[in-house]
Amino acid sequence: MKKAILIGPFTQILPLNKLPLRGALKDEQLEVINHGGIVVSGGKIIAIGAYEELKKGDHELEVINESQVCIPGLIDAHTHICFGGTRANDYAMRNSGKSYLQIAKAGGGIWDTVTQTRMASKKQLIDGIIHRSNRHLKNGVTTLEVKSGYGLSVDQELKMLRAIKEANSQVKQDLISTCLAAHMVPKDWNNSAEAYLLEISESLFPALKAEDLTQRIDAFIEDSAFSGLEIAPYFKAAKKQGFDITVHADQFTPGGSEIAVHYKAISADHLEVSSQKEIDLLAQSETIAVALPGASIGLGCDFTPVRKLLDAGAIVAIASDHNPGSAPMGDLLTPACILGAFQKLSNAEVLAGITFRAAAALKLKDRGILEIGHKADFISYPTNNYQEITYQQGQLKPNGVWKNGTRVNPS
Ligand SMILES: [Zn+2]
Repeated sequence: MKKAILIGPFTQILPLNKLPLRGALKDEQLEVINHGGIVVSGGKIIAIGAYEELKKGDHELEVINESQVCIPGLIDAHTHICFGGTRANDYAMRNSGKSYLQIAKAGGGIWDTVTQTRMASKKQLIDGIIHRSNRHLKNGVTTLEVKSGYGLSVDQELKMLRAIKEANSQVKQDLISTCLAAHMVPKDWNNSAEAYLLEISESLFPALKAEDLTQRIDAFIEDSAFSGLEIAPYFKAAKKQGFDITVHADQFTPGGSEIAVHYKAISADHLEVSSQKEIDLLAQSETIAVALPGASIGLGCDFTPVRKLLDAGAIVAIASDHNPGSAPMGDLLTPACILGAFQKLSNAEVLAGITFRAAAALKLKDRGILEIGHKADFISYPTNNYQEITYQQGQLKPNGVWKNGTRVNPS
């Protein structure tokens, strides 16, 4: 049998364990293991603690020679990295003062990405996902969610979700797929939301199960997409067929989070315009609030009221929303750090939002903290002080990334 491997010594290890899933966190609550090590075997953590103690065991050694701070691998719980084309012209038009409608009339908006994604081959989509996943890997993301939603027909959504499944077998990370066929009413359905959603739930949902393409159904609840009334039968059908629900909620107008809580969604994502009513609803529910600061930065909009959500006792994760339209930066840590500066979030709250709280938003119980029995997914930064990670606002890059106990970036 292969010997277990002791990796270390790390100047500091932040296991991020024993912290509450819900509510505010103070940095004093963070456990810091100084001069620590992690023993991995079979892809899992089998011991973690003081390096010198662990060294007494019979392990192979993977020696870290410089100052490094180790934290769990980052988890990005909301991305749209399966797409064709670019929306650079949208971005330029928006920043030149053009309205959403003017941009749509000029051929931009989500429909532009739908058109370009429909034209792309499955191979081209796979290559795009791999390229973007590799970039996330360099930034320490070891698990990421990927949505469909630019196909908007049974066949095209299948093409996207098959591409995500195939890409998953070719990248170092775990890709968690989500069906977002309810992203907007496709133009070729003549604004008939009801008929389109019925077609998706009757024809696409069974195919998703048959090919094991996803367990998750997402919908965009918004004036420009679907109303609560329109989405009700869709979510009921999804739940009946055993899918988990997640919702794009309260981005431009409130209301989506209430629907998310009503349908016991795993998460309600966006929440930029959530008021105290929505904040209280989420705080009293099991639905995880996912902030997407990359979209606020991309659109020049307000940030999600994360401080209020945490103080009210909500579970808050932070994700990149990496997409060609509103979050083209496509980074997780930099927007999370900027959100932290604007919303006055502790280091513990920012790090929790992109690790174990993000894992919860994907219903993953085996990662996001460094603890015996959990996946050996962790990253290390070239510094001797964990505060540098958020202080450098994403510009301090990890120089060690381990997935399932194996180093997946060049040392
Ligand atoms: Zn999104």
